[in-house]
Amino acid sequence: MGIGGQAEPPPELQLDQDALLAAVDVINRMGATEFEVGHLDDTPRSEDARWWASARWQGTRVAVEDHTGPDTAAEALARRLMNGGQCTHCAGTITLGPTSRAQRRAGKLCAWTRQGLRWVRGCADRVPEGQRAVPTPARRGELPRRHPR
Ligand SMILES: [Zn+2]
Repeated sequence: MGIGGQAEPPPELQLDQDALLAAVDVINRMGATEFEVGHLDDTPRSEDARWWASARWQGTRVAVEDHTGPDTAAEALARRLMNGGQCTHCAGTITLGPTSRAQRRAGKLCAWTRQGLRWVRGCADRVPEGQRAVPTPARRGELPRRHPR
């Protein structure tokens, strides 16, 4: 029974928890700090609340705004940090869109995809975990994860 005449249950935020957790995970792995997510407006529908996300990365605050939820805002921020960065495993440029087999074989691009709770690098089958194909320092997007087990 509701209090104050509430006939309906409170509107629940429909969250893609996997997307949110994967975004937070990869934002951390990218070395960003001060990750925050919030909304600008208090609206009846949470989708209308203009969600934003921001983090400090390499001395700069990076932010995205006008999203429909904390999950999409966080994912947009993660994509902004990843896209164009360098994969520290294969030294390829991280891309989030589809790539041709020839592009992937050339090793210049590393297509990252989200698989459930994690963003997975495209070179996972070519470059074993803990190895680096090209020992150059990353231009950006350093991923200090080495031995997850
Ligand atoms: Zn890679």
